[in-house]
Amino acid sequence: MATRAVRMLIEPQMVIEGAGVRLKRSIATQRLDYLDPFLLFDHFGSDNPRDYIAGFPLHPHRGIETVTYMLAGEVDHRDSLGNEGTIGAGDVQWMTSGHGIMHEEMPRPVNGQMEGFQLWVNLPARLKMSPPQYRGVSAADIPQVRKEDGTEVKIIAGNFEDVDGAVNEIVADPAYLDVSLPANSEFAYNVPVSHLAFAYLFRGSAHFGDPATLDVVHSTMLVVFDQGEKIVVTTAAEAARFLVVCGQPLHEPIARYGPFVMNTRAEIEQAIQDLNNGTFVR
Ligand code: MN
Repeated sequence: MATRAVRMLIEPQMVIEGAGVRLKRSIATQRLDYLDPFLLFDHFGSDNPRDYIAGFPLHPHRGIETVTYMLAGEVDHRDSLGNEGTIGAGDVQWMTSGHGIMHEEMPRPVNGQMEGFQLWVNLPARLKMSPPQYRGVSAADIPQVRKEDGTEVKIIAGNFEDVDGAVNEIVADPAYLDVSLPANSEFAYNVPVSHLAFAYLFRGSAHFGDPATLDVVHSTMLVVFDQGEKIVVTTAAEAARFLVVCGQPLHEPIARYGPFVMNTRAEIEQAIQDLNNGTFVR
């Protein structure tokens, strides 16, 4: 089985989003605009609430799915489907905007901490105008595999060692794993050859790909894999924690404008017009 080599290392860059939230972005930047089917990847969190407390007040989305995974703190949310609640440490929110959703996402600290991730997954043209959907998954409902060597894998989406993840009916057939790998250990994961795959190293350090040919990577870094059949991650003296995300590329044209991601410029103009006319939420 061919081990996927590392195609690119992307150092996250600080951006300001929402009403003034400072976050680390590694997809949807000048260096990496799009990683088909993934449109954006943000890592938020800070010891200073002023970096995020203004949050993301009511805003629209069309044509995408957003996946929020919390490590610490809480996010209060409400949306135009009538969902309202709080997601906390270990919880996942998988939102399919379809033709249109309006929502609010307001982070706040718990014991001084707030940290999490948001991934945008593209929808294929045939589903961009589908009805919006929302799934909240609490931490207790996310399957976890503990291996004898101490490796822990939380399966947010996809499948790992015959255990299905919490979210599985997503079009891009994604896997989304949160892997805690002890020192001096190896993690291997088979990925369909057709899928794009990346890892996001957010604690410690590790080797990605063939350890004989690549230097150690230190957190925080997005690692984009080349084609192949499996992902291999190895640690030396230091442990590592990283996300593994993969999905089926769409190979469709992209027109994006802030929270709208469609296939053509005319569809973006329609979204703006619907918003202005008050016909965005049906
Ligand atoms: Mn949003």
